[in-house]
Amino acid sequence: MSRVKLLGYEIDTYSFEGAIEKGLELEIQDKVSQVVTINPEMFDCAKIDPEFAQILKTAEMVIPDGVGVKLGLKIMNKNVDRIAGVDFAKRMLEESAKQNLPIALIGAKPEVLELARKNLEQEINGLDIVFAQDGYFKDDEQVINELKSTNARLILVALGSPKQEKFIKKARNILNCGLMVGVGGSFDVWSGMVERAPEIYQRFGIEWLYRTIKQPERFKRIFPTLPLFVLRVIKQKLGL
Ligand code: UDP
Repeated sequence: MSRVKLLGYEIDTYSFEGAIEKGLELEIQDKVSQVVTINPEMFDCAKIDPEFAQILKTAEMVIPDGVGVKLGLKIMNKNVDRIAGVDFAKRMLEESAKQNLPIALIGAKPEVLELARKNLEQEINGLDIVFAQDGYFKDDEQVINELKSTNARLILVALGSPKQEKFIKKARNILNCGLMVGVGGSFDVWSGMVERAPEIYQRFGIEWLYRTIKQPERFKRIFPTLPLFVLRVIKQKLGL
């Protein structure tokens, strides 16, 4: 496995299966690890937020979520799998269930969390969710301390970025173990309240296009982020 430097940050170049294997390895260690699934917006965020930039540098796994990052790596002559955070997290849940590892879900609106939990428990045999907390709490320390007493091994945090990465950073100092993954809007998808783009969009890594067609107000979010990101990568490559 190698890491590729992209705009100052090391990105992991695992295959999907390789990322799952590494995730499982970290999950059973007696330390806390962090997975960031990175997209071009997060590079922008890191430019203006030193705390977030530091988190990107210390996370045990930084995997390319968006097709934009895959494209950026391609410009740097590296072909990598795009690993959608929602797929990575789902597979980690399945593998953790097989090994009877305790799971925590943190984030989303209470009704979304409840539905997501119900659907996951129905779908995945032996899933052991020992902690579930919606994402609208005030006292981080209190939640983290409650979480600590459960000894959860896979901890999915769906607070949106960069909030989830900062929550994980705080938790890392308090917990004893667990693989913590920032999963953005995954619980919304699993709850069935937000539909995922059709398979064909997923296959070509253009879910963002589908979401933008469905919610045109998202256009502001991806444009000009994506073209500017690509431009920055080209400048880095040319040493400009
Ligand atoms: N969310 C949360 N607490 C907050 C803010 C957001 O639990 O204080 C949840 C929100 O309900 C949604 C998830 O975070 O389920 C992801 O939000 P968003 O789609 O904005 O994040 P992205 O995936 O774009 O990073």
